[in-house]
Amino acid sequence: MGDKVIVNCTVVDGRTAEGGAPVPDAAVLIRGERIAAAGPLAEVMPQASEATVIDLGGAYVTPGLVNMHTHLSLSLPGAEGEGVKAMGPHDLALYMADGARRTLACGVTTVRCVAEKDHADFALRRAIDAGRVPGPRVFTAGRALVCTGGHGHEGTDTLECDGPAEFRRGVRAQIKAGADLIKLMISGGIAGENERIDTPQLSADEMAAVLETAHAWGRKVTAHAGPATVIAEAVALGLDCVEHGYELTPEVAAAMAARGTALVPTLLVTRCADFFEELGVPAWMRARSLGAGPRHLESYAMALDAGVTVLLGSDMPPFWPFEGTNATVRELEHMSEAGLGPARALHAATLGPARWLGADADLGTVEAGRYADLVATDTDPLASASAFRTVRWVMKGGAVVRDDAAVPSLA
Ligand SMILES: [Zn+2]
Repeated sequence: MGDKVIVNCTVVDGRTAEGGAPVPDAAVLIRGERIAAAGPLAEVMPQASEATVIDLGGAYVTPGLVNMHTHLSLSLPGAEGEGVKAMGPHDLALYMADGARRTLACGVTTVRCVAEKDHADFALRRAIDAGRVPGPRVFTAGRALVCTGGHGHEGTDTLECDGPAEFRRGVRAQIKAGADLIKLMISGGIAGENERIDTPQLSADEMAAVLETAHAWGRKVTAHAGPATVIAEAVALGLDCVEHGYELTPEVAAAMAARGTALVPTLLVTRCADFFEELGVPAWMRARSLGAGPRHLESYAMALDAGVTVLLGSDMPPFWPFEGTNATVRELEHMSEAGLGPARALHAATLGPARWLGADADLGTVEAGRYADLVATDTDPLASASAFRTVRWVMKGGAVVRDDAAVPSLA
């Protein structure tokens, strides 16, 4: 690949939420997979004499989005989900590859998978990394660990464990398969028929066994969690991230902020009635989801008040259509509108996740040395998170993977 230089654009990234400023009339020089220089046009162009020029026509350029709560093999209760659950390994792998391609086209250049079926995520990641299928960079937990009958036990995207010894073995089995992090279900949730959102599901010795083992191997742990009491217990034991956090209190939010435990609020899952209807999910699940909505939003506000680091995650596959856009962008709009604002929303979608993943030397900003994972939007992401509805160009690792202005091609 020869050098490329992107011109006629304004560069914006998560650093604006930390006192940085957007760069109007910017240029980004790309050498191989990475950014070689980014800044004002006049500073970058002298280094770009050999580069192919990509004129973005006045677009805003941001880092590719990172979706921190993804399931590409998701099967919710109901007819649609049963179809996914019935797939054998070959169909499942192709289904997930299709989802990965669609995800990348949305401008999501990195995903954190937090429970995928049958370890197909590892095969998918190998295929993406080898260039056999298009898709985002994949950080994955493999199977989520649950107690017998615990949240999500119905599918092969979880592994049932009971007692500290089995949970330790569960952690090691995921790491053996290639897991970058560990996902744990510590309470009930929306999609489990025999549980409530506030059902505690793990004992303290089980949580401690997971955290101790995962941390010893250098893996972070994130937990699906609803009620404050169980979250408080897990945070005190060293939990690195909370998913959903449906029923936080100011006390537990303060503890999360003090210990650096992040929150991926997934606001979408309690505000998507029409979507659940379309999908044919059972009435009990729709009722539970909507019923939890107001408290979920209060929890999110408590987290923001306490200064908890919040990160973008849709729970739904990132590309699934929601209200005129995709799940990732709809979630970011909810996060922004419910108190975060557009600049911090951009941070929660890029730099914040890159830091949690320990990948901020490679991802999350438009800066020399980072992978050239970039998206272009027509409108300003600092004015509104809805700017990501206007994504029209996507680059991953220096290769343009979407360009709405180009002649369609299958090459
Ligand atoms: Zn989930």
